[in-house]
Amino acid sequence: MTRRDRVAGQEPPIDLMNTVWGSGRGADDALATAAGALEWIREIGPRLEQRPRSLDHWLPCASRLSVKEAAFDLRRLRGALRRLAADATADPRPAGMVSDLPDHQAAVDVLNGTAARAAASCVLVWPGTGVPAIALRGDLPGGIAVCSLVALQAVRIFGGDECKRLRACLAPACANFYLSGHGRRRWCSQACGNRARVARFNNKQSANEIG
Ligand SMILES: [Zn+2]
Repeated sequence: MTRRDRVAGQEPPIDLMNTVWGSGRGADDALATAAGALEWIREIGPRLEQRPRSLDHWLPCASRLSVKEAAFDLRRLRGALRRLAADATADPRPAGMVSDLPDHQAAVDVLNGTAARAAASCVLVWPGTGVPAIALRGDLPGGIAVCSLVALQAVRIFGGDECKRLRACLAPACANFYLSGHGRRRWCSQACGNRARVARFNNKQSANEIG
């Protein structure tokens, strides 16, 4: 496999972890370009626990510089999340599957620093005739707001019960993490499950041939 496989329906912090596969020249990184980062932000915005109010105006007219800043912050947060996910799951996969991860304490600091921007900007929005909701004040640019809300949700995942459901996918050549459901799900996706079964079958065949 040389392409990153997206895992459908995962929480935004997990989705961010899975935007990269491989390292060096063969890497496949959905956030490597400003256009890729903008696409990811557009897609993840409606799936966040809190809606950043600045996102709707920011998306259609974001300057190249502000998208590049958001892409940089997202890649830095992704490195921190992958480090913490690897530590939480005792990930046995080779570190080279994704390069340049920070050490544990640096990852905690990046996550907390990024989440703090959103935590300081969450407000209650409750129009007299509507339903109450938590929203992010509109003063953070949309891309940065999305990044910090993803970080805030990641703080809850790592610090809460969901962390026990976090898994590294151990199918051949997969770099993904996923939150397992209540079943006995062992792979991030059906494609990985199929690939793992084929690899197991091939290993058995070659063992039989040698035997
Ligand atoms: Zn997988």
